[in-house]
Amino acid sequence: MKRVLITGAAGFLGSHLCDRFIKEGMHVIAMDNLITGDLKNIEHLFPLEHFEFYNQDVSKFIHIPGQLDYILHFASPASPIDYLKIPIQTLKVGSLGIHNCLGLAKEKKARLIIASTSEVYGDPSVHPQPESYWGNVNPVGPRGVYDEAKRFQEAITMAYHTFHGVETRIVRMFNTYGPRMRLNDGRVLPAFIGQAIRGEDLTVFGDGSQTRSFCYVDDLVEGIYRLLMSNYSAPVNIGNPDEITILDFAKEIIKLTNTTQKIVFKELPQDDPKQRRPDITLAQQLLNWEPKVHRSEGLRITYDYFKGLTADELNKVEHKDFDKYNRK
Ligand code: UDP
Repeated sequence: MKRVLITGAAGFLGSHLCDRFIKEGMHVIAMDNLITGDLKNIEHLFPLEHFEFYNQDVSKFIHIPGQLDYILHFASPASPIDYLKIPIQTLKVGSLGIHNCLGLAKEKKARLIIASTSEVYGDPSVHPQPESYWGNVNPVGPRGVYDEAKRFQEAITMAYHTFHGVETRIVRMFNTYGPRMRLNDGRVLPAFIGQAIRGEDLTVFGDGSQTRSFCYVDDLVEGIYRLLMSNYSAPVNIGNPDEITILDFAKEIIKLTNTTQKIVFKELPQDDPKQRRPDITLAQQLLNWEPKVHRSEGLRITYDYFKGLTADELNKVEHKDFDKYNRK
């Protein structure tokens, strides 16, 4: 039986990856320090014989007894408000954390895939973004702690691959959504849906002309799985190229939720990327992968999930802190 370590396992993506690898018949070792993750996302897996959980910070030395075939390094704060609240941990998990994972992969002769991101492209001047674009990142801006950690993570991963021969994969994920996103982490989709459910106006930052391209989580997980099983070690974009302005996105959420709330405009955060859309030609050719779930379907499933949350969960509003952290 193959054994896989998933870091960030209690997070949004990590928990879906745990589900997938259990389904593939593997033994899943889940690791999380629960700073931004939530055990609720994986509690359904605890009774399973082939699932175990380590409450551990990946930035500290990792010891896993026994054989290990795959490592998925998905631990990291992943929303702009998180980077602003916990910048040092964000840097550490993307540097010390990956160093530990790579050391473990080398020791165990395991194949490692790292969670990279469209943030490595920064506020891109090339559109859509192919893997060959090197990016436009402000290292000392509010997003620098995340963007540079992820860029360092790619660099050290390639170094272990070329110098030590560790089998590595790099997935550059674009905006992803689905059930188990944290409702109140400030990201746009949970922000809008949460506002609609609570009966608040939807807060569009700037004039809403900035674009994003949203991928449903099941599509992303499929892309990650295929990349891990491939023999390609350079970065691969996985995302949905269906691009939309944030203003139109707010209108879609208003329609979806049937809310009578309005759109209000707030100041655009510093270094907010103006446009983002993946060029997925490489993933199509290499992995025969492309997204299947249309936004209308994915949003419906996600909305149903959020509607099922408790009143306490719905009313815990972390994102109102945003202005405090969004220093210019
Ligand atoms: N955004 C918004 N209102 C919100 C939260 C976010 O208009 O309440 C905008 C944000 O400025 C950005 C886009 O939505 O342009 C996506 O933001 P998110 O934080 O989800 O992720 P990003 O892609 O910027 O990392």
